Amino acid sequence: MDIKELQKIIQENGVVGAGGAGFPTYVKIDERANTILLNCAECEPLLKLHRQLLEKHAYEIMKTFHVIAETVGAKEAIIGVKKSYKDTVNALNQYVEEFPEMRLALLDEVYPMGDEIVLIYEATGRVVRPGGLPIEEGVAVFNVETVYNIYRAVEKKHPVTDKLVSVVAEVEHPVTVRVPIGTSLQEVVAMAGKTTVKDAVYFVGGPMMGNIGTKNQPVTKTTNAVLVLPEDHMIVQKKMRKPSIDMKRAASICCQCRTCTDLCPRHNLGHPIDPALFMRAAANQDFQDLNPYLNANFCSSCGICEMYACPQSLAPRSLLADMKVGLKKAGVKPPQGVVPVPVKESREYRKVPEERLMARLALTKYDKEAPIDDTVAEVKKVSINLSQHIGAPAQPIVTIGDKVVIGQMIAKPAQGLSVAIHASIAGMVTDVTDRAIVIEAK
Ligand code: SF4
Ligand code: SF4
Repeated sequence: MDIKELQKIIQENGVVGAGGAGFPTYVKIDERANTILLNCAECEPLLKLHRQLLEKHAYEIMKTFHVIAETVGAKEAIIGVKKSYKDTVNALNQYVEEFPEMRLALLDEVYPMGDEIVLIYEATGRVVRPGGLPIEEGVAVFNVETVYNIYRAVEKKHPVTDKLVSVVAEVEHPVTVRVPIGTSLQEVVAMAGKTTVKDAVYFVGGPMMGNIGTKNQPVTKTTNAVLVLPEDHMIVQKKMRKPSIDMKRAASICCQCRTCTDLCPRHNLGHPIDPALFMRAAANQDFQDLNPYLNANFCSSCGICEMYACPQSLAPRSLLADMKVGLKKAGVKPPQGVVPVPVKESREYRKVPEERLMARLALTKYDKEAPIDDTVAEVKKVSINLSQHIGAPAQPIVTIGDKVVIGQMIAKPAQGLSVAIHASIAGMVTDVTDRAIVIEAK
């Protein structure tokens, strides 16, 4: 298969990064990639979806990864997997010799190993420059479910119409379900039995980088997990704090201990992000040196500084995120051509063990199996967002009253960076807006 052909299949079948920001995957099929890297680090506490999927479909995923390597001409195909995922590693070891360009990179159980910039360094020793893309270092990174979706698109002509979602924490039976895209979170949570707290809050994504969701919010191509948590859980409470209060607290109690900077994974890779310096400048409204503000652009929002490092429970990550938004609104571009300094020698012993992180976040008691149920759940109504990826939203090609079947394209890729969207259930289109298409089973 040539590059253009594979790109076309991936774009038309609506494959995007199954997690994170949903980067359209066809763009990563790039001849500059001399190394491709499968991300099975899955570092967010409680999430186990990728290691389960890779164990279950090891051969299909490895074979597809091999096809990608051949297509782009990559010399190396590395599977980054934590050494503690023993069942997954055993499943991979059964087949790895079949693929001469493939090797496993066994990773430590630390957070944020799944951050692709961190993963690239751990697996290849290469440092992506601040603000740079992995392809500049000759690397393309794919997550496990994304490659599984490419397998389905190539081998079965199956577009992305469903998503694996783990439902964990305060539910009767933690489980990972396969649901049609557009299913409401409330319905997804019900698939794990009753919630075990009265004031349940849906926390979407991982506990470190996720957000509070609503019951009617639809599953998208990037929804990996719903954590059901009590409203007074520290993760929920931290998320509910206001930036204005965070800033007042920073001004009054940041003791400049610099623990946030010492443990910052990007800082330790030689990037110029320095949360302690930013906190000092912002709390004192000091604008003599603008670099602490401008370097907010190089924060990955991993959350180590505010969820783990800070002894005063301050919120550098949230304030940096606000700063990034403010700079963008004001038209201030990220600093260009920044060259990283050498990786810190102390980096090795400043990694954050996941077990400690889970204990610090009061999540240890929720660390249970959430087995995969791989049959697509039946639902009566879906609301499918037109923008489930970075880039331009897809453009609807159906109208109210149209009958659709599963897998039918209902929105085509827009000009520029964009992918198609497909019907996730059979039925009738009952609403089309500039944000979503609603389908009801009739
Ligand atoms: S860890 Fe907390 S108290 Fe210490 S410098 Fe950073 S924000 Fe300030
Ligand atoms: S969230 Fe905090 S620890 Fe993570 S990259 Fe940003 S400043 Fe560093």
